[in-house]
Amino acid sequence: MNSPQQITNNRQQRVLDIIWDDGSTQQLPHATLRAQCKCTVCQSQRLLAGTDADADVPPPPAPAADIRIEEIHPVGAYGMQLIFSDGHERGIYPWPYLRSLEMNASESAIDSNPPTAVQRKKSQMLHR
Ligand SMILES: [Zn+2]
Repeated sequence: MNSPQQITNNRQQRVLDIIWDDGSTQQLPHATLRAQCKCTVCQSQRLLAGTDADADVPPPPAPAADIRIEEIHPVGAYGMQLIFSDGHERGIYPWPYLRSLEMNASESAIDSNPPTAVQRKKSQMLHR
């Protein structure tokens, strides 16, 4: 199973740097992790806010821009628990879930080859 080799909490940039077993790296902003919390409280808040506009339930507050991860606790071999600076500590993040949040993964760099000459010609014609 793919699990992190190393997790670094970069408090200054407010990102979590993860190095996975297969060598790929991932950077997850603390605010993203807070917004994607999978605990029952956050999930039901999101669910209620999304399905019933008349529900007497306030939408989940957007995480503050300066939210930070204060502590990381391992949870068995399958994930970790994150303690946030707003006091929220119920979020447990299994490894596969973290990987699915990939947004700054190094793999995206593979596709960044410059366009071929043919493609460039085509797009010039389209723009005329
Ligand atoms: Zn939560």
